[in-house]
Amino acid sequence: MTHLSSSTLTKLGEFGLISRISAGVCTHESVITGIGDDAAVTELSSGMQMLTSTDMLLEDVHFRRCWHDPYSLGRKSLAASISDIAAMGGFPRWALLSLALPSDLPLDFIDDFMRGFLAMASENQVVLIGGDTCSSRSALVVSVTVMGEQLPERIVRRSGAMPGDDIWVTGTLGDAAIGLESLENGKTVSDELILRLLDPTPRVSAALALAEAGLATAMIDVSDGLMADYGHIAEQSGVGGRILIADLPLSDSFQRYTADLPILPCHFALSGGEDYELCFTANSSDREKIIDCIKKCGIEVARVGIVTSCSGVTAVHRDGSLYIAQADGFNHFK
Ligand SMILES: [Mg+2]
Repeated sequence: MTHLSSSTLTKLGEFGLISRISAGVCTHESVITGIGDDAAVTELSSGMQMLTSTDMLLEDVHFRRCWHDPYSLGRKSLAASISDIAAMGGFPRWALLSLALPSDLPLDFIDDFMRGFLAMASENQVVLIGGDTCSSRSALVVSVTVMGEQLPERIVRRSGAMPGDDIWVTGTLGDAAIGLESLENGKTVSDELILRLLDPTPRVSAALALAEAGLATAMIDVSDGLMADYGHIAEQSGVGGRILIADLPLSDSFQRYTADLPILPCHFALSGGEDYELCFTANSSDREKIIDCIKKCGIEVARVGIVTSCSGVTAVHRDGSLYIAQADGFNHFK
């Protein structure tokens, strides 16, 4: 652990900060030893395998402090990793949180961030079991690791899509991208679209329901845009895909906002990231079961395309013409 040099945090000190954070943490019977020792001790449920996923959120790359209030930033930091565990069909269980804190960061910011983080944790039965804090000379950096578990036969990978399978998505697509577009251009937009960007909901119960029913042949969460994320399923399954643009699920707020834009609305739905919906493939004989299974979780599901045997992912308009991508999903190294 690194000594905190922040003037705001100096009085509290690193160990004071850790006590302050751990005071709000709930526990669970799976946590034998939580925060406070050199390492946490946890117990997997009988017969289950562990799933681990980590995400880094860097100020001015993944979020801006002027847009993102600390409470929803705390929520989103954890939501992104919970969503990855869900996309494998796993139960999210334990989280590690590491923070590099700039010296001008008020203690209130950290308190609100932690309230958001721990609210997202408790909504998803996740326990914070450890982490690290240090000072940052420039930006705020948040690193979150979530561990989950599932029976081996229920884990859903990206690699199981078969030619002829349907391609499905939960909820609606493109809302977060419109939220981002409106913030970047200072336009007024409905709160619903801003919230989709700033405070996304990981689709844990829908993912678990699909995994338990054995309905999904492959699954991923839509963090970088449908074309890019389905592209990962296609690549790892050795298949291709055809997305039907007319079938993309679009929210009312999305349709109202994009009606006056010079850009095709489908661009946001196909290439916009951070919706954290699930994209999955399933045998076409399971259509009714899937609709039933997802509706029971209180969200919508839409069939948006078909898995093809030839490689390459295309999107086609209603008249059969090919969509020409205006940009791919977000790629940090481009
Ligand atoms: Mg993911």
